[in-house]
Amino acid sequence: MAATGTVIISTEYCKGCGLCVHACAHGALAMGRKINNAGYAVVELAAPEKCNGCTSCAVMCPEVALEIHRRG
Ligand code: SF4
Ligand code: SF4
Repeated sequence: MAATGTVIISTEYCKGCGLCVHACAHGALAMGRKINNAGYAVVELAAPEKCNGCTSCAVMCPEVALEIHRRG
């Protein structure tokens, strides 16, 4: 199935808490290896084809680091 959403990650706001990874029932997010300027390992959209734009991750993020764009 084609992706119907995508996530824009403001990596400098991310604190690496992982809440969004757990919130995503589709397995689209994962903690990555990139470290931001504050020293946190930040989340990445590891499987963009799995994102359906549901916004669960963005709602969960305490740092408001995630922005969802829906397609279609
Ligand atoms: S918008 Fe939904 S499907 Fe996409 S990464 Fe966030 S929780 Fe997962
Ligand atoms: S919930 Fe927000 S702060 Fe936590 S890992 Fe995800 S993007 Fe980063």
